[in-house]
Amino acid sequence: MTTGVSLKNVRKSFGSVDVIHDVSIDIPKGDFAVFVGPSGCGKSTLLRMIAGLEDTSGGRIEIDGKDVTEEEPADRGVAMVFQNYALYPHLTVFDNMAFSLRLAGAKKDVIREKVAEAARILQLTDHLAKRPANLSGGQRQRVAIGRAIVRQPSVFLFDEPLSNLDAELRVQMRLELARLHRELGATMIYVTHDQVEAMTLANDIFVLRDGWVQQAGTPLTLYDDPDNRFVGGFIGSPA
Ligand code: ADP
Ligand code: MG
Repeated sequence: MTTGVSLKNVRKSFGSVDVIHDVSIDIPKGDFAVFVGPSGCGKSTLLRMIAGLEDTSGGRIEIDGKDVTEEEPADRGVAMVFQNYALYPHLTVFDNMAFSLRLAGAKKDVIREKVAEAARILQLTDHLAKRPANLSGGQRQRVAIGRAIVRQPSVFLFDEPLSNLDAELRVQMRLELARLHRELGATMIYVTHDQVEAMTLANDIFVLRDGWVQQAGTPLTLYDDPDNRFVGGFIGSPA
């Protein structure tokens, strides 16, 4: 198995509070992995450590077999999509997606090509000249994903990207994310507190509780054979 993301004894404390205790997991390259668990269990902290936005307090993070624990975020080959989109309101859709490429000094024709490709994948081609205020919620979320796609990361990190959308749009975006994963074949780690999202999107689920991985497995394994009541209750299997 080629490993996409590997965490070895990763810990995190803020001051004297241990938030991530001792997490060791291996996510195969090209996997769609979901971290699921109640609010405050450490999902975002874990994701931010993988992205390099937060230092670890111990342990080791590998991406595609390379130790990135001390690497800057930009050098890790990851791109993160946030729940609140984090779009630049004064920039067009094109410029929002081109932003990080320009920052990295990419050539004009390369930028145009990569943005066009991301727009095609996300069905944003007709909206490239618009500003975020003139887009629907779903389109804004697609722009946020497009900003990640143009960087051609090896690993996509999603932190509850659909939680601000209404129920109907969430279902539609779930299908789009599944299609995106099939089309790009990249490793994806998706954080959510929503069991349905976890069950429908994941190849592998990691159930987090109070800074520990309580159980890991396929959706079917967790549903059929939860280790304990917490996992069973959370995943929604019959008692
Ligand atoms: P989740 O994303 O699962 O809701 P988080 O990773 O955001 O959980 O937070 C896990 C725990 O760490 C929470 O108790 C939260 O209050 C705490 N925490 C997160 N970030 C910080 C921080 N920068 N300083 C202090 N405590 C933090
Ligand atoms: Mg969170």
